Amino acid sequence: MSADASPKPADAPVDHGRRALLRGRPAGPPPVRPPWTDEARLADACTRCGACLSACPEDILVAGSGGLPAVDFHAGGGECIFCHACVDACPEPVFEAERDPPWRLSVTIAQDRCLPHAGVHCEACRDACPEGAIRFAPRLGGPPTPEILPERCTGCGACVGVCPEEAVAIAPARREAPA
Ligand code: SF4
Ligand code: SF4
Ligand code: SF4
Repeated sequence: MSADASPKPADAPVDHGRRALLRGRPAGPPPVRPPWTDEARLADACTRCGACLSACPEDILVAGSGGLPAVDFHAGGGECIFCHACVDACPEPVFEAERDPPWRLSVTIAQDRCLPHAGVHCEACRDACPEGAIRFAPRLGGPPTPEILPERCTGCGACVGVCPEEAVAIAPARREAPA
């Protein structure tokens, strides 16, 4: 019998940028994984059983790349309420319940889609944000435009589904280079 202990392809962390490159298309942002876990822990321990997907009361968890759970804030139109149901439902050591913060996500607003940048009043994202993390700065000659306050943002995603122009995007935050 072979003593090859190298990880099977399905067990290896998913390198989304490399996979896209090999397929000849530009890499999109990596998927948002559920809170309190990450790509490496999912690759090591997730059996793709779907228990977390069924448990999420907001219906924001879907089977993503490689069958691993991913967050789609458009799927149920909901937001993460950090209820722990996904953590509690998982029978494997996928989640780290003590992790604080539960994830590091970055919210961006595409100016070329955002209505106030085109002169149309809209503050739907701010109205939806439970953390007061979207500020509208007054400006001359047009309606106020939104600005994300990262220090307040929890990555809950409440601002994503409410935007009528799909101008709000959330992705894993890029790691800062070591000093
Ligand atoms: S913490 Fe709750 S709302 Fe957030 S992904 Fe898990 S089950 Fe869904
Ligand atoms: S909800 Fe969308 S269109 Fe409206 S201000 Fe926010 S980002 Fe812009
Ligand atoms: S993701 Fe951030 S900016 Fe958007 S609603 Fe949640 S806390 Fe507010």
